[in-house]
Formats: sequence, structure tokens, C-alpha cells
Amino acid sequence: MTLAKNLRSVSLATGLVMAALAGPAPAQQPYPSHAITLVVPFAAGGPTDVLARTLAASMTKGLGQTVVVENRLGAGGTVAVAAVAKAKPDGYTFLIHHNGMATSTILYRKLPFDPMTDFDYIGLVADVPMTLMGSKKMPPNNMAEFIKYAKENGDKINLANAGLGAVSQLCGTLLQGALGTKFTAIPYQGTGPAMTALLGGQVDVLCDQTTQTLPQIKGDKVKLYGVTTLTRIAALPDAPTLNESGLKGFEVVVWHGVYAPKGIPPEAAKRFNQALKDALKDPAVVAKANDLGAVIVDDSRQTPAALQAWLKSEIEKWGPPLRAAGLYAD
Ligand code: ASP
Repeated sequence: MTLAKNLRSVSLATGLVMAALAGPAPAQQPYPSHAITLVVPFAAGGPTDVLARTLAASMTKGLGQTVVVENRLGAGGTVAVAAVAKAKPDGYTFLIHHNGMATSTILYRKLPFDPMTDFDYIGLVADVPMTLMGSKKMPPNNMAEFIKYAKENGDKINLANAGLGAVSQLCGTLLQGALGTKFTAIPYQGTGPAMTALLGGQVDVLCDQTTQTLPQIKGDKVKLYGVTTLTRIAALPDAPTLNESGLKGFEVVVWHGVYAPKGIPPEAAKRFNQALKDALKDPAVVAKANDLGAVIVDDSRQTPAALQAWLKSEIEKWGPPLRAAGLYAD
């Protein structure tokens, strides 16, 4: 045998021994193998955050790994959306967001993301009505008095919101349009802090989801002027709608969806979607949703295809009224 041949057979033998020692290629860890981040685009304690934390607690049980809620603040929610669009698509970063995913495409002419192309869709979650409230210091006690007061006082009235792209801002824009008046907007990083300001009387008016406002309304900490759905809601059966109180056709319903950066592994998308569906049937989640006036969407809407189609329809729906209002962030 030549030396070269000898060396070849030695190295072949060494390779075989090493492969035998190493054993079979390690099996891939089943998903999820570590904590998952669920990004919320607004401040802790606010309505989107409450919904996210309720879901995260239940999904943590279902997935066997912690779902950590992370509040990424700024620019009416768009800072968080941009961050998730750029996050590694490994199935460990998700986003929960509301109508702002659609309306920001109209309000911001230079967005660093495209909601229709930069995300994978997990599913729709829940629809939530909004409530129009005044601070206890506000003179009007009901919607008729508020309409009169708003027309007389205009920009002396401070309206809190969570920035351009927030549903509180959307509700305020539609309200001012319907009343033909202009308030002074006071933006916060979420309606958690905006509610604190309303309770303290530092701002006069806030329109916000029932997921945060119901306890304050029931505790008589604010003045309730009305709800933003076309018909009355079960959680506040005595509260009139804005629609029946002189603002015919007024309607804002807040919808929530869960997204991932584009290109996550299909098995992660499937597993996370299943965990979301299971959470939406969890009695603890259902009870909390009922308590806070949130309506969990039907099974058929808890899907990627339903969220994608809904998002597209919402971008089309809000384009004309928001362009007519002429409010742009840039
Ligand atoms: N309610 C919010 C909004 O106005 C945001 C939040 O959840 O804090 O969009």
C-alpha cells in the first residue's frame, strides 16, 4: 500500500469513528424552545396592552414557553410595527395591533414598512367598542350637552389621544368632523397614560376602547357621553350610542390582529395560530373579554387569510375619510 493510500484509509477510518461517537445528527428542538415576544405598540396598562397580556398568559400555558409582552412606544404605534417588520422571522417575535395597522398607511406617507407585504398573518382576535368620555370637571353630563358645549368651546377643549395612527385619534378625528369643530389634541404614548390624565382632569375628553374604560365608567370616575358602535352594547346597555345621539352613522369598532415578520417557519405560524385559537376559547380569556366589552371573533376569522383580507378591506375603507380630513403625520 502506498503512503498516500494509507493516509486516506486512516483519515476515512477516523471520520467514521468520529461520526459514530457524535451519534445521529441532533434532532431539531420542537417549536417553541424558548420565550416568545409579543410586541404591543402602546403603553402598558392601556387597552391593547390589557388584551395582549390576557392572551399572553393563556398562550404561555398552551405553548409551554413564556409569551413576554413588550411595549414598543412611539409615533402612533408605527415604531413597533417597523421594529417587528425588521425582526428576525424565526417565530419568536409577534405583533398585536388594531385598526392602526390599516390607518397608518394613509396617515403616514413615508412608512418604513408595508402592512400588505412585510408580514405574515396569524389571525384576527377581538372587536372592541369605544366610549367617548369627559373628565369629571367637564360641565356637560350627556351627549346632547356635550355637542352644544363642543360647538361653543372648540379648541378650548383638550382631547387626549395616543398619536396619529391610534384609534383614539381616529375617533377624535371623526368626532370633530361630525361636529364641525376643532379640539386641541394632546398626544400620549398610549391611552393608559391618557386615561390617567383624564382621571386627573389634565385633559377634558378621551375616546377609548372599553377594554380599558369599563372599570372607570362603572366606578363613576369619568363622564360617559356615549359608545361608538351603531347599536348599544351588552356591557353598557344604558349607554346611548353617538349614532342615536345626534351623530347619525357615527361608528368606530376597534379590531385586533396578530402578525409576524414575513417568512417565519410555517410550523411556527401554525403552532402560534393554534395557541391563539385555544386562548380565545380559554374560559379565563372569555370571561375577561366579556367583562371588558370585547367580542372575540368567530373561529372562521381567527385565521391568517381572514386577517389579510380584513386588513386590505380596512385600508380601502379608511382611505377616503382620512384623506378628506387631510391629517398627515409628515
Ligand atoms: N387605545 C389606544 C389607541 O388609541 C392605544 C392603547 O391601547 O393604548 O389606539
